[in-house]
Amino acid sequence: MSVIDEVKQRTDIVEAVGQYTSLTKSGRTFRGLCPFHSEKRPSFFVYPDQQSWHCFGACNTGGDVFSFIMKKENLDFGEALRLLANRAGVTLSPRSEQETKGRERLHQANQAAAQYFHDLLLHSPAAKKARKYLVDRGLLPKTIGDFQLGFSPNSWEGLKQHLMERGFTENELLTAGLVVEGEGGKTHDRFRNHLMFPINDTRGRTTGFGARVLDDSLPKYINSPQTPLFDKSGTLYGINLAQSATRQQDLAIIVEGYMDAITAHQNGFQNVVASMGTSVTEKQVNAVKKLTKNAALALDADTAGEEAMLRSVGYENILGTEVRIILLPAGKDPDEVIKENVELWQELVAGALPVIDYTFDTVTAKLDLATARDKSLAADKLLPIINEIKDPLRKAHYRLKFAQLSNISEQDVEAALSRIKPDRRAKETRPQAVARAAQPILSSPVEEYCLALLLQHPELKAECQNLSPEYFESSQNREIFATCQQADDWSSLKERLDAAIHEHLDSLMSKNLPATQLNRRWAECTLRLQETYLRRLEARKKEVLALEAQTGGPAAELAKLEEQGIGTSIQLREVQTQKSQMRSGVKGGRNGLE
Ligand SMILES: [Zn+2]
Repeated sequence: MSVIDEVKQRTDIVEAVGQYTSLTKSGRTFRGLCPFHSEKRPSFFVYPDQQSWHCFGACNTGGDVFSFIMKKENLDFGEALRLLANRAGVTLSPRSEQETKGRERLHQANQAAAQYFHDLLLHSPAAKKARKYLVDRGLLPKTIGDFQLGFSPNSWEGLKQHLMERGFTENELLTAGLVVEGEGGKTHDRFRNHLMFPINDTRGRTTGFGARVLDDSLPKYINSPQTPLFDKSGTLYGINLAQSATRQQDLAIIVEGYMDAITAHQNGFQNVVASMGTSVTEKQVNAVKKLTKNAALALDADTAGEEAMLRSVGYENILGTEVRIILLPAGKDPDEVIKENVELWQELVAGALPVIDYTFDTVTAKLDLATARDKSLAADKLLPIINEIKDPLRKAHYRLKFAQLSNISEQDVEAALSRIKPDRRAKETRPQAVARAAQPILSSPVEEYCLALLLQHPELKAECQNLSPEYFESSQNREIFATCQQADDWSSLKERLDAAIHEHLDSLMSKNLPATQLNRRWAECTLRLQETYLRRLEARKKEVLALEAQTGGPAAELAKLEEQGIGTSIQLREVQTQKSQMRSGVKGGRNGLE
């Protein structure tokens, strides 16, 4: 997660805005007098669920907590970020030019280390055992090269000396996690006598290492520590090699171990990444989401139940689609299954069950749903899971499935579900509720696609008149777009943007986009962006209108709001017409956005 997302997630927008105007709760929203224009009746709303605000009065504008503070305190983005970070207790490490250079040095040190380990594995007599291990595991030379596997010698200073001879400082090696400080402050190599797995980011740059012992000693695996480049919980092993196949097949398969991923790739299953021995994390799911909306977890039958129940729905909500479970034969990992029987692996992948169906199966397998006791046991386990599903259609699907399985009317299931809500919500503390609400806005594919197009094709700047920064929900995206609008060309873009945004800018600049039909793709994605924004605005206006009608607001205010409401509807209809014209204009020309 970027520091900007973290600040946003840790900031309670109701509290932040509440320091400038007094807000009263009104349904799911908060309402108050607009702090930006003078008014007698409150037309200013804060939406904690979406972490945003909107003034339906004279301003007729809105945004998130960053844009609020920027406007109210007259700050630029970086200043507002610093102020809010300070309040939220988030330490900002401004990525100055110097720091960017520092990170680059760390990448280079890791890269040089990977090369050093790899050369030793291929040629050093000391690596004989490591080579034998890989041959025994069935790895081909090409695979060993693709994954740049390596060997760390049983020496205290082999790597350290090698890298220091090449100009890296001891401090850089410490920061990169390649050496550790021992007793008396003397440093030595972290990895000794290990089989080395370089871990790369999506751009193929080595950020850290996994390492396996070559005997029976424990621990079997160690990793690089957390460094400025390496965050294990957000990293997927093999993602650099898996990304294009994952995009093509529109599916990511997540396995646990390094060897599982490597064996899968060697056998032609290139959309496989590994969570590196731990349970899949939300950060990892977010990384997958950049490539595809479809994920399948390969799980051992023994552990799958727990895992599935605990995490599935959260992942599905992040991805906005269903997560599937590839159920492995008990006690087998993907490495073994693939080696023994490629067809079986393919069958298992094809037969992967949506995680909630799988949970239904495991829960009900042990129960007799003809009895009242087991019906309520099943309800206790399954209804809270169904209740968490955000997508209304899928929620309805599983509500019906539960009703049919347990032979209870849908109304009764619905009633039972509605009884769960207040109880579960009450248990949530406020920060958690904020964190949860903030999840879906962390990454927006359409926004990022639009921006990436614009950044990579500056000529599109002329086509930006219809776009407003407000259409971008993500703070970083909005700031980048607003800065693009002000800049004449992109050469000064980076200088104009706060250092905290540079990484995001870089990733958009280097996004892999198809090269054809530029204008059409641009038109499509900007229309979608507008449509999403207008829809949201219209829904909010309807809410405000309903509220005004209930509380007997003055007719004039109502009329003004209605006028605006109609304005939005007309715009929305225009956008939809343009979209459908586009669709009928070019046959079969979807751009792969959906
Ligand atoms: Zn206002």
